[in-house]
Amino acid sequence: MTTRIGVIAIQGDVEEHVIALEKTLVERREKGEVVKIKHQGIVDSCDAIVIPGGESTTIGRLMEREGIFQELKEAAEEEKPIWGTCAGMVLLAKEGDEEVAKTGQPLLGLMDVKVKRNAFGRQRESFEVLLKMSIFDGYFHAVFIRAPAITYATDSVEVLATLNGQIVAAKQKNILALSFHPELTVDRRIHHYFLDLG
Ligand code: GLN
Repeated sequence: MTTRIGVIAIQGDVEEHVIALEKTLVERREKGEVVKIKHQGIVDSCDAIVIPGGESTTIGRLMEREGIFQELKEAAEEEKPIWGTCAGMVLLAKEGDEEVAKTGQPLLGLMDVKVKRNAFGRQRESFEVLLKMSIFDGYFHAVFIRAPAITYATDSVEVLATLNGQIVAAKQKNILALSFHPELTVDRRIHHYFLDLG
């Protein structure tokens, strides 16, 4: 079986995701490829899709304009694994905070959660922590960059990690959302966890 993983390549840290996913496929000894999604017509051929970090307003608007929004909703219905990191987490949510409302940015609404953009304050733009995650033993070295967080989740959402009382990793069926950036560090446990959702 060949695994085809698509990375939304409109803006943000696309390259880092592509490289980390390629390494993960090698580690799994799986035949596969990682493709960049810039336009309509590619999502359907992918087995799993990643939405990277970046500017959620820009990524969301362009995805909608390119018709990728609708394709991702269909992929979610087919229960394909979809993973959003940081800005990607914002886009997966059903509901946003005032900042999201102010910009009028479109959301995919694939997860029953409410998100807050820049949830850790602007003065603490980026930081790193050793995070306890329910799915792993030990800690995960997590890099946060102007990170959002989930401030509310329904019971159908599984909380995988919290920080300062806010949810920073969560899963609902095959949809995974993280506030931080595992594509920037060497630990690929979350990448494997994501591909195992398929
Ligand atoms: N704060 C950004 C946003 O909501 C996300 C930052 C990031 O992806 N590193 O668009």
